[in-house]
Amino acid sequence: MAKGDHLYNTYAPPPQEFVRGEGAYLYTADDKKYLDFIAGISVNCLGHNHPAPKAALKEQADKVWHLSGMFQLTNAKELAAKYCAALPFADKVFFTNSGAEALECAMKTARKYHFDRGDEDRYDIITFSGAFHGRTFATINAGGNPNYLKGFGPSLPGFVHLPFGDHEAFKAAISETTAAILVEPVQGEGGLRPLPEVCLRGLRELCDEHGILLIYDEVQCGAGRTGKLFAHQWAEGAEPDIMAVAKGVGGGFPLGACIAREDVAAGMVPGTHGSTYGGNPLATAVGIAVWDEISKPEFLDQVVRVSNFLKQQFEGLKDEFPDVVEELRGKGLLCGMKLKKPAKEVRGLLLDRGMLGGSAGDNVLRLAPPLIITEDHVREAIAIMREAFEEAREMEDFVPA
Ligand SMILES: *Cc1c(COP(=O)(O)O)cnc(C)c1O
Repeated sequence: MAKGDHLYNTYAPPPQEFVRGEGAYLYTADDKKYLDFIAGISVNCLGHNHPAPKAALKEQADKVWHLSGMFQLTNAKELAAKYCAALPFADKVFFTNSGAEALECAMKTARKYHFDRGDEDRYDIITFSGAFHGRTFATINAGGNPNYLKGFGPSLPGFVHLPFGDHEAFKAAISETTAAILVEPVQGEGGLRPLPEVCLRGLRELCDEHGILLIYDEVQCGAGRTGKLFAHQWAEGAEPDIMAVAKGVGGGFPLGACIAREDVAAGMVPGTHGSTYGGNPLATAVGIAVWDEISKPEFLDQVVRVSNFLKQQFEGLKDEFPDVVEELRGKGLLCGMKLKKPAKEVRGLLLDRGMLGGSAGDNVLRLAPPLIITEDHVREAIAIMREAFEEAREMEDFVPA
């Protein structure tokens, strides 16, 4: 066997090497074209080579690359002001380079809030099964997925895991040590499961009743992906106290943020937290350009239109292939289907036909196309999926491990 490359073997990518991208397409060196319906998992929201963030990056590259939070971060302040103007709960922002770091800041903020109020024993963070919050020590413990914890030593204390969306279990689990509940309004990795709007409101009410903080992880479902800037905005009266974002907000440049209410973040004073690159001028210049595009009402209207069309087309596929498709999953353009055939292999069939997709837990075929796709891109995807499903029909049924 060849020695392979020198990257950690934590991923198992297919052999294609993409050398450029344009809109919803990626190209290999021999100019073979692939329809990108995964966008680096919900990252390239404006597709590839979009002029606005590219111009912002080039312009900033001529000015200054890095300063750190020890100096005035002009772009970061501008971007934070934009987030806070769009989110009624939001007053304060801590910028990060990734989703996991945004979650780390969110969880530290929640614990510090209770600590400063004299509630030192309120440190437990409650999450639901199927949750995914990143791959750092704290975030694998928050997620609680045994596959991601195995081999990495003892589990950290201070995390409570409950069945998905089980309101009664949540009620019963609340105690004097509960600091916060952390939840993805639409579970990504866990299998594209939206938490019903009534559940989000129910969580908000229970948190208010018991003085618990509500933290949303909108790393995957935010940034316009569901047709609102953030997925929780579909549920009126269900605002969080803290929210973590990343992936789409950078559009392909590493950028994340922890966004919080003023009084909740009040204890995060000098010395309590930091990040060398957090609020980096290049990253936040791109973040501003991305935000200015995705926050246009007509942009979000088009996301809603195209995702409705896509859903209708998916319904058609489900009717046509009842032996392949078990049920439709997701919300907006974080969409997919639980399959009866192995989702990872079906993803391979799509790749063979020039379409990039992903998979998620619960044997789900995960699709997260750039938000700039049109009805024509959807038609192209459906045609490829139909061909792939014809072949998948012949496969053995998926058997859960
Ligand atoms: C991807 C993801 C994360 C982790 O983000 P990284 O940038 O990989 O650290 C956290 N939460 C959710 C919901 C995600 O999808």
